Amino acid sequence: MLIDTHAHLQFDPLKGDLDSILERAKNEGVGKIIVVGIDKESSEQAIKLAEKYENIFAAIGLHPQDSKKINGEDWNAIEEMTKHAKVIAIGETGLDYFKIYSPKEIQIEVFKKHIHLANQTGLPLIVHNRDADEDSLSILQNERAKHVVFHCYSSSLEFARRVWAAGYMTSFTGVVTYKKSDVLREVLKECPLEKIMVETDCPYLAPQKYRGGTNEPSYIIETVVEIAKQKGMEAREIEKLTTENAERFFSI
Ligand SMILES: [Zn+2]
Repeated sequence: MLIDTHAHLQFDPLKGDLDSILERAKNEGVGKIIVVGIDKESSEQAIKLAEKYENIFAAIGLHPQDSKKINGEDWNAIEEMTKHAKVIAIGETGLDYFKIYSPKEIQIEVFKKHIHLANQTGLPLIVHNRDADEDSLSILQNERAKHVVFHCYSSSLEFARRVWAAGYMTSFTGVVTYKKSDVLREVLKECPLEKIMVETDCPYLAPQKYRGGTNEPSYIIETVVEIAKQKGMEAREIEKLTTENAERFFSI
């Protein structure tokens, strides 16, 4: 069984075709899917899907890009959602300095709030980090975040070593199958087996074979096959260990 640890099934165009998408996922052996929110509405929608489908779980949070738009009501709603039985993680949260849609100071403030909520509730954190390596890691460590995954890992090997040394996980998308992703393949070669998880981040980032199209959970096998290649292992073994890692990390 495979687990897609990061999917946005509540987004267009996935949400309009959910039954066939879930059917294809099942046929490819995807047994569990974590649907991730980026704001109040999409977090509520993730919970709705988790209520409807037994094998769907919800992560709730406010994406760093929108930090400046967040108000007290949004934050109260997020806090309230953590009480739901199928909310198994907080995120996505983090820092995005690639295109500064929200000022850094505001992103950092909102990121810290998510970390404190994770510390209070014991829920793991799904971290989005884009061009913000130093701040992301130092803030997580200073705020004593314990259970952390760097989702869609896309930084250097040197930074990955520091993430693993901090006790944090790294999760990989179909980007590892792209021709230009040599650095990521080096990261995979060195990644400790207990630190790897897999995700699609669908509808974005379709693997090479489907590039340019809409990504969906059934494509996650492409990422697993690439990891197996880099590790010199069987895809079946990578499937088993990434699933065990996700079950342990998210308690699902
Ligand atoms: Zn995402």
